[in-house]
Amino acid sequence: MSRFFTSKYDQLTPYTPGEQPKDQQYVKLNTNESPYPPSPKAIAKATEAAATLQLYSDPECRLLVEKAAETFGVSPDEMLFTNGSDEILNFAFMAFCDESHPAIFPDITYGFYPVFAKLNGVPFEEISLNKNFTINVADYMGQQKTIFIANPNAPTGIALPLSDIEEIVKSNPDSVVVIDEAYVDFGAESAVSLIHTYDNLLVTQTFSKSRSMAGARLGVGFACKELIRDLNTIKYSTNPYNVNRMTMAAGFGALEDEDYFKENCQKIMDTRAWTTNKLRELGFDVIDSAANFVFAKHGTVGGKELYLKLKENGILVRHFDKDKLRDYNRITIGSAEQMQILIKTLKQLLEG
Ligand code: PMP
Repeated sequence: MSRFFTSKYDQLTPYTPGEQPKDQQYVKLNTNESPYPPSPKAIAKATEAAATLQLYSDPECRLLVEKAAETFGVSPDEMLFTNGSDEILNFAFMAFCDESHPAIFPDITYGFYPVFAKLNGVPFEEISLNKNFTINVADYMGQQKTIFIANPNAPTGIALPLSDIEEIVKSNPDSVVVIDEAYVDFGAESAVSLIHTYDNLLVTQTFSKSRSMAGARLGVGFACKELIRDLNTIKYSTNPYNVNRMTMAAGFGALEDEDYFKENCQKIMDTRAWTTNKLRELGFDVIDSAANFVFAKHGTVGGKELYLKLKENGILVRHFDKDKLRDYNRITIGSAEQMQILIKTLKQLLEG
């Protein structure tokens, strides 16, 4: 830290993204990226847009918003596109949390929430999950604090049914409930339709996972138009051109190819079922996942040891050196071929 760094960030420990080593080619199952490329329509649109990069992007993302409004069944003023969904989550901490509206979220969830809270000087409380990593819905009822829930949760992959989400939203009418649906397309129920009923609900999604666009950085939020207006106040006070022209065009192309998106989600879900079975045969305890990853621990071999051995063998998974998570690894569901390599390698490691 330089002597110039403001003391207001003394307590800030930045988020640690999954490692992206360049020393060799890995089977990369550590950052929940899609193993499939973006839709050819997304690639074509982005390529076309590259020729107009001398111009700023449209701060209203008008064409993309109109297209997405049709796809998601909302009106254009009920959505906001951002630079990845991380950006809209940060906007939500900025817009809807303060001393009188502290943030609450599970103690095991997306690691960026406490970082955003600290960055924005927001008090927060982490609520323990049940022993089996499920969320105790009662903990979030009538809290009147700003609630952040990833559904499905990360890194567990466990999803709450829509009826539970609705109960939480309904019981906190005077505070905002943010449902982070980064992984919703892999088998959970989306809460987007509830934004028409509840004015305190913000649902965030991303094009990073199910639409294979992690490198483009495109996130989106759905809420009643008043909440969207607040988020726009933050956006226009930080970076009006937060979505660049190529990303905006790629997003439009991706939405023109819903078949490709659905096919890829199905492939991931099929591969997840295959991987879960194989891991269980090898003595892993695997949590049933509704996401594009599984969270698994072995009966006898520790989580960190497995992570290191896999890395030595050219396979990257995500290990969290943190209480309650240490025994586990989070394994992204890659292509069928990648998962076959994983299982074959694990077999050798465990039997060898
Ligand atoms: N929410 C959750 C639960 C995530 O795991 C991620 C991905 N790291 C994000 C949000 C943010 O994804 P992105 O910024 O790529 O949209």
